[in-house]
Amino acid sequence: MAGQVNLAPDEMRLVACGTGMPTARPKQAVSCWLLELGNGDKFLFDVGTGSNERIAALQIPYNYLDKVFLSHLHTDHFGDLDALFVGGALSGRQKPLRVWGPSGETPERGTKYAIEHLRKALTWDIDGRAGLTDPRGYFIETTEFDYKGVNKVIFRENGVTIRSIPAIHSLDGPVSFIVDWNGMKFVFGGDTYPNKWFAKYAKDADIAIHECFIAVPDMIEKFKFTPQSALSAGTQIHTAPEAFGKMMSIIKPRMAIAYHFFKDFDTSASILDGIRSTYAGPLSLSEDYMVWNITQDEIRVRMARVDGDVWPPPATEKPQLPDPSARIPYSDMINGGRYDVKDVIQPVYDRINKEYGINEKQE
Ligand SMILES: [Zn+2]
Ligand SMILES: [Zn+2]
Repeated sequence: MAGQVNLAPDEMRLVACGTGMPTARPKQAVSCWLLELGNGDKFLFDVGTGSNERIAALQIPYNYLDKVFLSHLHTDHFGDLDALFVGGALSGRQKPLRVWGPSGETPERGTKYAIEHLRKALTWDIDGRAGLTDPRGYFIETTEFDYKGVNKVIFRENGVTIRSIPAIHSLDGPVSFIVDWNGMKFVFGGDTYPNKWFAKYAKDADIAIHECFIAVPDMIEKFKFTPQSALSAGTQIHTAPEAFGKMMSIIKPRMAIAYHFFKDFDTSASILDGIRSTYAGPLSLSEDYMVWNITQDEIRVRMARVDGDVWPPPATEKPQLPDPSARIPYSDMINGGRYDVKDVIQPVYDRINKEYGINEKQE
């Protein structure tokens, strides 16, 4: 399992935690990429719908999963942020979740607005947890940066530099990210029509992830798009396989990674044909749980073996005890509706109090 295999100090590891499309399916969550560095740092690029389950499968203590970079605010790229935020805090992230994302043309279309309002939408959820668990994880620190920034630094810590470049997708706002560490370059492209910034700044990357949408005929036949919307979504809002290949021929990465299509036995061939009509270099047609180990000398591509029956990994530090006085009480009306089961619960209290040397009492 990826989270349990140590990295060499000079190694990078990438795990695909979501490679599919906005339409949910069990086989593929949507855009989410875990980048782990030999210095111990871990970064999540996008947390698309369904990806939290993939992240959990890797059994990584949540204190390491506190940095998220969002390419844009489509739900297939950040729809599981709420699950990572609350579930992570509950499962051992004892610090705020840090989120980086682009501004928009108006404040309402920016990451700060989205996160503030997501946090507001979770008011009942978080209020209800007060006084019950370690409170330190229930905060989000948002860094919104200018979506028009071209190769501007948005993160620099611990020998890792992350820059952003604009993308062309749907509305102004989307971006791609470039990570430099230890003489290696990792590029994560969010959704985009092929763009000149990617062509320039992703050049010679060790790893270049770029979206590659499903082929137009499959969009019409399988997704039941009209030919008009299939052409527009599949080639103008997104990158068609032929255009993906053209971009990769320009930037010549050590490994090109394509995502954002349903990878089935009867869709992969047309995607591969499209890409291979314009690109002959190293290529991964990604799927969930694909793993890339990257050093200066070698890139190994494997599949992570995961277990469906996972539990939260152990926290990296001792949990802080909750403060019961922080609990928000029930109203008298609701509290008065308790059925009396104290007699059958008391043995549970007795056993746990004895076993752990504590003296807890029923409410
Ligand atoms: Zn999108
Ligand atoms: Zn997308």
